[in-house]
Amino acid sequence: MDFTPQQAILELGDSFYDPVAAARFPQTILRFRNDRAAAQVGLDGLSDDEWIAHFGRFEPLAGSLPAPLALRYHGHQFRVYNPEIGDGRGFLFAQMRDAQGRLIDLGTKGSGQTPYSRFGDGRLTLKGGVREILATEMLEALGVETSRTFSLIETGEELHRGDEPSPTRSSVLVRMSHGHIRIGTFQRLAHFQETEALAQLVAYVLRHYYGEEPGEDAAARLLGHVVARTATMAARFMAAGFVHGVLNSDNINVTGESFDYGPWRFAPFWEPGFTAAYFDHAGLYAFGRQPEAIYWDAMQLAISLRPLAEEDALIAAMETFPEVYQREVTAALLWRLGVTPRGTEADRVLAQVLERALAETLTPLDQFFFDAFGGNLPAHYGEAFDDLRGQLAFYQPRKPALSGAEGARDHAYWSGAPCSMLIDEVEAIWAAIAERDDWAPLHAKVAAIRAMADALR
Ligand code: AMP
Ligand code: MG
Repeated sequence: MDFTPQQAILELGDSFYDPVAAARFPQTILRFRNDRAAAQVGLDGLSDDEWIAHFGRFEPLAGSLPAPLALRYHGHQFRVYNPEIGDGRGFLFAQMRDAQGRLIDLGTKGSGQTPYSRFGDGRLTLKGGVREILATEMLEALGVETSRTFSLIETGEELHRGDEPSPTRSSVLVRMSHGHIRIGTFQRLAHFQETEALAQLVAYVLRHYYGEEPGEDAAARLLGHVVARTATMAARFMAAGFVHGVLNSDNINVTGESFDYGPWRFAPFWEPGFTAAYFDHAGLYAFGRQPEAIYWDAMQLAISLRPLAEEDALIAAMETFPEVYQREVTAALLWRLGVTPRGTEADRVLAQVLERALAETLTPLDQFFFDAFGGNLPAHYGEAFDDLRGQLAFYQPRKPALSGAEGARDHAYWSGAPCSMLIDEVEAIWAAIAERDDWAPLHAKVAAIRAMADALR
């Protein structure tokens, strides 16, 4: 794959972004380079020195953006409209095509102050960067469309944070994603009543992310796509047991790719009230409330598009959310169970019975999905699982046998223990780095996650 630089964002014009400069860091120590992701955009051939020049000092990639752009957006944060946000500690660094021809962004986190930093330092803690690697690798393995962590470079500054023992180490992260247009990008234009720019953004997103020409009903069609993709994202969060933590409308990408990982957690149990962010006192973004939160965000897009579309068309698009969600959560749960959908109403019933059994018993999720993969539930799963077991009898394992009689469970992963990502392990991986500068547990975990991904595929 040859590197194929792009500059699509420049079509939108100056009112969508501000050119900015990256901070100059006292050190640039390469901690993580994602060569699998880099290979998909033709950047895996860079030497480590070149990598650091581009992703630590932000020397432009030839043919892509001549200077970093802080993107403008607003958004609802915990349901309160905030017109003072925007890329405050990151920017769009480069655009390119991937091997499938998709338009890809490399964006940053922790690259310095911008006009949108307000009182912030524009920096990312090293722990925050390590946590983002873990979240993105795990989500990708569990079949959630997500931004990838492309690069993490330690930057040698001392940061002060209320939620970490301080001073704490600093880093700059590069994320690879399918665009950085957020629901909040639309909200900002609606807020300023910039209707022409709004139409321009609709066209941009339809063309570059949905492969369609704008034309008739462009805004309502776009909303329909975004509803479908975000409902799918919500469904996959649930099946993965993932709690994003901050589902504000500025953190929702209109391509439905999950991104921006702060106080995320994986839920140990199917517990709807399980909350990730310590500051989410009301549990607004709790595990079980995520579909509703994402629906609410999509509704803000609908409201923003009102100047361009009839209300009826927008309402019709919004009304597809529940059915897409139901279909996708069923598909995602069956995928995690390792069984082939039958394509009938039975699938939906199976998913519901599964949810109920998990919620009633508070069975450890990762162990459960590990044991159940392929559809054979071990005997020690008691009475509460009888109904589920009965229904699973009608299902075939998702993977054809590669060899021997084990079928779905051929991969070496299935003779070990489940790979999970609960908070104690995340903290232990960080503690090894913080206390001994020992990066081996992080790299071992990434390898273990990728092995699980192979087993699930
Ligand atoms: P987030 O909660 O990470 O989605 O961020 C919300 C807003 O706060 C965005 O505009 C960020 O760019 C900004 N922000 C978060 N942390 C910092 C920081 N350390 N310095 C500057 N801006 C920040
Ligand atoms: Mg954000």
